[in-house]
Amino acid sequence: MRIGSNNLTYPFDNRPKPARRIEVAPKVFWLRMPLPISLNHINLWLLEDDDGWTIVDTGMSNQETKSLWESLLEHELDSKPVKRVIGTHMHLDHIGLAGWLCRKCQVDLWMPRTEYLSCRVFSSEMKEPPSPETIEFYKAAGFGDAELAVFHERFQARSNFMTPMPTSYRQISDGENIRIGDFEWTVMVGKGHSPEHACLYCKELNVFIAGDQNLPRITPNVSVRPDQPSSNPLGEWLTTCEYFKNQIDEQVLILPSHGDPFYGGPLRLQAIIDDHLSSLEKLHDYCVSPRRVVDVFPTLFKGKIEDHNLVIATCEALAHLNYLLEASQLSMDIGPDGIKRFQRS
Ligand SMILES: [Zn+2]
Repeated sequence: MRIGSNNLTYPFDNRPKPARRIEVAPKVFWLRMPLPISLNHINLWLLEDDDGWTIVDTGMSNQETKSLWESLLEHELDSKPVKRVIGTHMHLDHIGLAGWLCRKCQVDLWMPRTEYLSCRVFSSEMKEPPSPETIEFYKAAGFGDAELAVFHERFQARSNFMTPMPTSYRQISDGENIRIGDFEWTVMVGKGHSPEHACLYCKELNVFIAGDQNLPRITPNVSVRPDQPSSNPLGEWLTTCEYFKNQIDEQVLILPSHGDPFYGGPLRLQAIIDDHLSSLEKLHDYCVSPRRVVDVFPTLFKGKIEDHNLVIATCEALAHLNYLLEASQLSMDIGPDGIKRFQRS
C-alpha cells in the first residue's frame, strides 16, 4: 500500500510478471502486457466464473503479446475455457488481438455497438491510403507537406497492430448487467475518449474496471477524429467525468488500463476535469489573435510535439478548440488557403 504524489492510494506493491496473473479482488485478476509504443504497457483483466473465464481487453497485436497470451491460456486458467472476450473500446492497444483471441478460443467478442462498428470501419480503412477528406482535415489544422508525410507513415503503420476483427459480435449497452460467476457487473458507458467506451462496475466487490476512462497518472486522450471534424468530444468527456465522479466513490477499487490499480477515483476525475478547464482558459487567452490548430500546442502540452505525437496532439488540440467554439468563446474562419483559424469572440 502506498500513497502517490497525487494523493491516490495504490494498494498493490507488485505488478503481474509477464504471462502471470495477480488477484486484485475475489475472482478478478490483473494481467499486464507490453506495448511497442511510448506508453509501454496495458492492463487487462480476467474474471473467473465457475466454468470458465471472461477476458477484458486484449493488447496490441505483435508476436510477443501473442506468445504471452498462449502461455497464459495454457498455464494460468486452471484448465477452464475462455467464455467471452469483452472489448472496452476501439483503440488498438485494447482491441488489437480481439479477432485472434476470439477465433483461437472460439468465443464471441462483447462490445458496445458504436465501438465495434467504428473499429470495423477504421480497420478496413487502414489498408487504404488516407481519403481526400482525411487529408483535408489535417491541412485545415495547418499541416504542410512534411507533417502530412509523418501522418501518412503513421496511418499505415497502425494496421500492423491489429488482427482482423471478428465479423460478428455480441452487443453490450449502458446499464446492462452481466453475471459472471457470483458477481454482477454493470456496463457503464463513458463518452469523449472514444464514442461508447464500456466500463464495468461490480457494486458487490466495490471494483470498477475503468478502461481508459480513469487513469491514475496520464490524462486520457480526448480527440476530434477526421470523420467528424466539428464534433465536441471534450464536452462529452467532461460530462462523463462529472457523472462517474458522482457514481463511483473513493472506496471503489479502480482498475485502469494504464498505471496501477488505485483508490480515489473521484479525486482523480476531479483533477482531470480541472486540468482541462485550466487548459481551456489558457487556450482562450492565447487566441487573442487568429491561431491555427498547430499553433496552440504550447498552451496545452508541456512536452515538445514531435513526429511520434504530432497527430494525437493535433486531434486533442482541436477537441479543446471545438469545445470553446461550441461555447461561443471562440469564433472560427476557414481562409482561402483552407486552414481553420480560431480567435476569441
Ligand atoms: Zn483508449
